[in-house]
Amino acid sequence: MTIPAFDFSHYFPYQELTDYLTQMAQAYPNLMQLKSLGTTDEGREIWLATVTDQTTGAALEKPGYWIDANTHAAEVTGSAVACYILYQVLTQYNQDAQITHLLQNYTLYILPRIAVDGAEKYLQTPYNLRSSTRLYPESEQQDGLYPEDINGDGLILNMRIKDSCGAWKISEDDPRLMIHRQPDEFGGTYYTLVPEGLIHNYNGYEFKISPALEGLDFNRNYPYYWQPEGEQKGAGDFPFSEPETRAEAEFWRKHRNINGFMTYHTFGALILRPYSTHGDDHLPTEDLRIYQLIGKKGSELTKYKCVSVYHDFRYDPKTVVYGAMDDYGYDHWGWFGFTVELWDAAKEAGVEKQNNIEWGREHPIEDDLKILQWNDEYLEGKGFIPWQGFEHPQLGEVEIGGWDMKRMWKNAPAKALPEICDRHFKFAIAHALMSPRLSVARSEVSHEGADIYRITVQWENLGFLPTYTSKKALERQAVRPTRVKLALSEGVTLISGEQEQEIDPLEGRSNKWFNASANGTDYRTHRSWVVKGKAGSEVRVEASAERAGTARTSVILS
Ligand SMILES: [Zn+2]
Repeated sequence: MTIPAFDFSHYFPYQELTDYLTQMAQAYPNLMQLKSLGTTDEGREIWLATVTDQTTGAALEKPGYWIDANTHAAEVTGSAVACYILYQVLTQYNQDAQITHLLQNYTLYILPRIAVDGAEKYLQTPYNLRSSTRLYPESEQQDGLYPEDINGDGLILNMRIKDSCGAWKISEDDPRLMIHRQPDEFGGTYYTLVPEGLIHNYNGYEFKISPALEGLDFNRNYPYYWQPEGEQKGAGDFPFSEPETRAEAEFWRKHRNINGFMTYHTFGALILRPYSTHGDDHLPTEDLRIYQLIGKKGSELTKYKCVSVYHDFRYDPKTVVYGAMDDYGYDHWGWFGFTVELWDAAKEAGVEKQNNIEWGREHPIEDDLKILQWNDEYLEGKGFIPWQGFEHPQLGEVEIGGWDMKRMWKNAPAKALPEICDRHFKFAIAHALMSPRLSVARSEVSHEGADIYRITVQWENLGFLPTYTSKKALERQAVRPTRVKLALSEGVTLISGEQEQEIDPLEGRSNKWFNASANGTDYRTHRSWVVKGKAGSEVRVEASAERAGTARTSVILS
């Protein structure tokens, strides 16, 4: 089967995503297994691709790496990156040395779209929603203005309404731009800005903005410091209450080889790391250093800054976000992983942001003008819809227009996609290759007289990270000990040594990064056995490390 070049021209709706994944699985049966982790409320499949060279070992017997995307319905750029990574590793196998090495020795788990129903609604209708189409926390529309495409142009934009109390006015620099009316200003033409929409139970006088009908946020539904709705908006009924997050939890429980992850979101052009809830002093020092080191690698490869959510990405300086996936992945499993906020239209336009959240709250008009100019040149003006008069059925004369959020803010435009995909592919692969990897260093047999033989096997961790991944994983007892088993062939008996035993975890190279020579060869260990048997008999030795893979060897008594 000929695989066409990766299609960057648009974001895949569900059927196209399904067809793409099915086609890739059929084209590369030895490298990719496609399975559904479950079905959504609307009956769609939650697809997961397991990618490894099956001929060099089973997926679970190799160190694993997790990639997911589109936790938030609108953030389809992440799906494109995940699908591109899949495309690259499959098509570059046996072409590129790094990719070949990766699939021979490691396993990738790729879940390209978590909010399957939500993304479909986002891509196929004018609506925007956070994660799920399930009505939550209320089961019916509340009073107030709700978003609707009232002029039938296929978009939900903004309405500006002339109002003597209005907080906005038209900019003199660019009439498209709405700017703040100064606190002491009077006597001009002012506007109120609200989303394009209709008002449920309008009394003809005042209205408020109705809360989102689809208010679930999957990235508040993970167990780490989970809090109910009153404390954390979008949290869901209880941790892992949704079919999508629950499907992940069940998968992770059974696939204990994962060491690291990427979860792709938009936007902000940032690499975020835990915690959301606590400062950096909450991480073990060793883990913090490793996190910073991997983040630095990510910054080099992607040009995105790596920051702590708590220190640099808080929506409100006095509150924190509960129930996020990255906090759960690190704190519960001890995985090193990142939430990547792909794309940022403002940064692309040359705006410098010290802090993304602060910038979103307030920024100079010059920044808006820069973005408008970038829109006019790079997007040929398509990101901003000019204000146009419209007779609103409830409010009378309004104007509809503004940024096309879907086209330019929430996701990368098609022509920016190839570069984003390629940079983040490189970072994910580099990160996956940091996993621990157990291997047999030496296996020896010596004849001790008569039918007596001594067998010695030495193992080593070829990886960067230790076989227990992180100090947090050790602390949480999230990794089971490495088990060694001896299989004796017919007629061979064990004289000394244990047939089944545990060996201590092995360090990797990560503890030498900040401490050049103090750790010796803590990445190797050995065991010896004495057996009795005929020359020519075989003894097999298997060592299984949950996170670092299974290493097998055999010796012939001689
Ligand atoms: Zn997101």
